[in-house]
Amino acid sequence: MSADPDCLFCKIVAGDLPSDMVYRGDRVVAFRDIKPAAPTHILVVPVDHHPDVVQLAAKDEPLLTELVTVAGEIAKAEAGGEFRLLFNTGAAAGQTVFHVHGHILAGEITGLTA
Ligand code: C5P
Repeated sequence: MSADPDCLFCKIVAGDLPSDMVYRGDRVVAFRDIKPAAPTHILVVPVDHHPDVVQLAAKDEPLLTELVTVAGEIAKAEAGGEFRLLFNTGAAAGQTVFHVHGHILAGEITGLTA
């Protein structure tokens, strides 16, 4: 288990900051995006701190698989199972929180920035 004391999503995962949590597992959590860009917009996030999806894949492939599996289960429950799974990777690509998170998006996308 690793956490970064300065990381916003580490604080959300720990329950030190509020969130609208929809899933909590031992290694993966998911909560609703505070600024939804689609009717379903949920972030799927590993408990452990990894800066982005490429570094997660390099360090803990089973955890990446679990993240995708959980995303599929949530999308099935919330939106019939058809969805986009978006990992902004790097500031120039729009990543603003450097704790890997997959955006589960379903329905019409209205306000994705960057
Ligand atoms: O991919 P990116 O790093 O830009 O995504 C960060 C996402 O985290 C944004 O969609 C933002 O709305 C969301 N967020 C959140 N809760 C916070 C802070 C940011 O859902 N407390």
